[in-house]
Amino acid sequence: MAWIFALTIDPVAADSADADFADTFAVIDPAAPALSVGELSTQRGDGIFESIGVVDGHAQEVTAHLERLAHSARICDLPAPHLGQWRQAVEMAAAASGPGESVIKLILSRGVEHGPAPTAWVTVATASDFTAVRRDGIRVVTLDRGYALDVPARAPWLLLGAKTLSYAVNMAAIREAKRRGADDAIFTTSDGFVLEAPTASLILRRGDTFVTPAPNGGILHGTTQLSLFAHLEQRGYATAYETVPVADLSTADAAWLVSSVRLAAPITAVDRAAMPVDAELTASINEYLLSPRD
Ligand code: PLP
Repeated sequence: MAWIFALTIDPVAADSADADFADTFAVIDPAAPALSVGELSTQRGDGIFESIGVVDGHAQEVTAHLERLAHSARICDLPAPHLGQWRQAVEMAAAASGPGESVIKLILSRGVEHGPAPTAWVTVATASDFTAVRRDGIRVVTLDRGYALDVPARAPWLLLGAKTLSYAVNMAAIREAKRRGADDAIFTTSDGFVLEAPTASLILRRGDTFVTPAPNGGILHGTTQLSLFAHLEQRGYATAYETVPVADLSTADAAWLVSSVRLAAPITAVDRAAMPVDAELTASINEYLLSPRD
């Protein structure tokens, strides 16, 4: 991964009538230090982010990402982002990204300790090459997330439906999966339901129906899953949001982890039990996900 571009944003109010935000952006050297030591994003992980896939200069599903940024801001009591301002920042970032696959990150932090305003910035970096993993797939293990399915409603301060910067637990889960000889993890609830992966959504295939765990506050609503469901429906398949018991993993006809940059990775094994892979369908799904999507 190499840094390509970065800019800082001076956030305007969400209801600002401005249409041109050029004077609220400052292009910075992505390799140079840029944050204050008082930054609450680094001190406490107190902020939110989005990772947008970019293919040959086209930023994918920008509206869905901006809407999720606003949703995360609401959950975290952060000032609502001005979507027009962020969209313009994404356009500048995409224009700087060049050919091939890259990733645009949007970050909105609570700001500097005792400071008056949130801090916001956007980066572009080259994406890793996921060609092999999209074709050959991943082995996953199920890992207990440690709470029951009804916790998001009972304890909203856990911020479970927000894409916060506090990803230490997610990264620890991936390390644990690797210690267990797998590539990735699927979080489960303590009462036996499937949630999501640490950085991806889960999609199962049952016959001609594609199922994903309902984003009922405990998991992120994935932009890739949303886009893929619309595509599958156009192809005549049924789609469904369900409460998925862990046992359903072993009876699925196929399964994928999907996310904005890695795209669709077919699951080849769950807890060491082999899972069928439909190579042709997976290739066509990734072809769709690599095509320009708005
Ligand atoms: N769930 C979690 C916890 C994630 O971190 C991500 C992506 O980073 C996703 C799901 C998939 O979301 P998207 O498809 O928007 O990348």
